[in-house]
Amino acid sequence: MSTLIPCPHCGDRPVQEFRYGSEAPASRPQTDSSIDPAPLSSLLYDSVNPKGLASEWWQHTAGCRLWFAIQRDTATDLIAETSA
Ligand SMILES: [Zn+2]
Repeated sequence: MSTLIPCPHCGDRPVQEFRYGSEAPASRPQTDSSIDPAPLSSLLYDSVNPKGLASEWWQHTAGCRLWFAIQRDTATDLIAETSA
């Protein structure tokens, strides 16, 4: 049995067709050059690694190549929601 991930563009596809990208925080710091770079650095290098429901970026690398957000329980790998 293969785990399926619901791609927002292609529908249910085998997990082997996808690549994990990163955690997807609720908000992103502004990338304006006049702001402090610390929040952007933290976004790139500091992982929260929660146990339970987490927002993540995934890419359908062997399909449409779309990046999309997944709400996944990191303890059970159950996917609650995907969105483009
Ligand atoms: Zn796709």
